Amino acid sequence: MFRIEIDREACDGIFACLARDDRFVEDETGLATIDPTAESVISVERSDERVIATVDGDYEDATLAARACPPDAITVQEEP
Ligand code: SF4
Repeated sequence: MFRIEIDREACDGIFACLARDDRFVEDETGLATIDPTAESVISVERSDERVIATVDGDYEDATLAARACPPDAITVQEEP
């Protein structure tokens, strides 16, 4: 299990993340979020500042999305 965090204040809607991990989607404001209905997504909390998703599934795709994000808005961390 791991956590994906998106800093919505840093996100600029380039969507390099969507091409690397299909759990990333565009929200109604034009920024990235995590699809709460995706198979491996356990929970998604969203505020104006950030999205925090708990995920049990492919870790590699999430790290590829994080590496591809130009403003470094994505953090992927193993759950303690
Ligand atoms: S790649 Fe980064 S900046 Fe671009 S939409 Fe995804 S999270 Fe936002």
